[in-house]
Amino acid sequence: MFNALVVDKNDEGKTSAAVQEISLDQLPAGDVTVAVDYSTVNYKDGLCIGPGGGLVRNYPHVPGIDFAGTVETSDDDRYKPGDKVVLTGWRVGEAHWGGYAQKARVKADWLVPLPSGLDTRQAMAVGTAGFTAMLAVMALEDHGIKDGPVLVTGAAGGVGSVATAILANLGHEVAAVTGRPETADYLTSLGATQIVPREEINETTKRPLEAETWGGCVDAVGGDMLARVLGQMQYGASVSAVGLAGGAGLPATVIPFLLRGVNLLGIDSVMQPYQNRLRAWERIAKDLPMDKLEAMIQPATLSDLPDLGRGILKGQVKGRVVVDVNG
Ligand code: NDP
Repeated sequence: MFNALVVDKNDEGKTSAAVQEISLDQLPAGDVTVAVDYSTVNYKDGLCIGPGGGLVRNYPHVPGIDFAGTVETSDDDRYKPGDKVVLTGWRVGEAHWGGYAQKARVKADWLVPLPSGLDTRQAMAVGTAGFTAMLAVMALEDHGIKDGPVLVTGAAGGVGSVATAILANLGHEVAAVTGRPETADYLTSLGATQIVPREEINETTKRPLEAETWGGCVDAVGGDMLARVLGQMQYGASVSAVGLAGGAGLPATVIPFLLRGVNLLGIDSVMQPYQNRLRAWERIAKDLPMDKLEAMIQPATLSDLPDLGRGILKGQVKGRVVVDVNG
């Protein structure tokens, strides 16, 4: 028997989340069984733990959209007992039981070997949010980052923190947008050279075009924020659209695309093919300074998860929550 955070739904449709003991034979089918070391709290996890169950597709369910750990048993030639592995995406923690348990059983195709230079705790300090931040930076690089500051929105959150640290480490000037002025020192310590208050972007004139300011953007917020940012991009610059923490709508015009050749790049971390995942994890090990990653970590255990799930949906979590499932 081992511990897991199990979410369930009663006959009235009310969901609950509690730490329970479960057994190996309850785990879903898969080729590889992993002894999980760490998982994390992402925005999607907040939805899955919270009231209504968010993205959960089957009950009872073990959420946790990512994990890192050690292979215990494997029916697949690519993995053997003792191998260190990382998992993000593939609807794990939504449609297939995830990382909020001391053991997980998944398809071998969904795993990636832990890249050298990272241990399982560091890999989960990165987690889905950081992996996505790296994909967003790589997409900007593919389209060319212009001179001048690169904007990161939702900067004090998970995606934003990692994007800020990577971009700064790559030598870019980073302008970090935050609605929490108290995080300014934290964002500066990650390498941001400019702190932009959230309202400074949201409360601009709302003209379709404003001064050409940003050489690129990683946007974790969407909504009004993304709409305003599009009109502030330099000619031919790109925005990696990652998230919707500020809303799923996009009250924008086509003008920035027509008159400034702005590129809007959609970033999806869930269905990334193996080679892309491997490349992104290798870039993370190379381009993300581990001392900055350490500064982002908020440690947690399985029993902290219900509170943390509520917190992330309110935009109250700073950096990355790393869940020690054995803690
Ligand atoms: P976090 O909650 O850690 O960060 C989001 C940040 O956005 C907050 O910290 C806050 O930053 C800002 N924010 C929150 N609410 C608002 C608001 N109403 N208006 C403006 N800014 C707001 O979440 P993550 O970083 O983990 O994820 C960010 C988004 O990216 C989510 O929507 C998530 O679902 C999505 N995502 C998408 C992935 C993909 O594959 N495309 C993968 C991973 C995440 P501050 O306090 O600094 O303003």
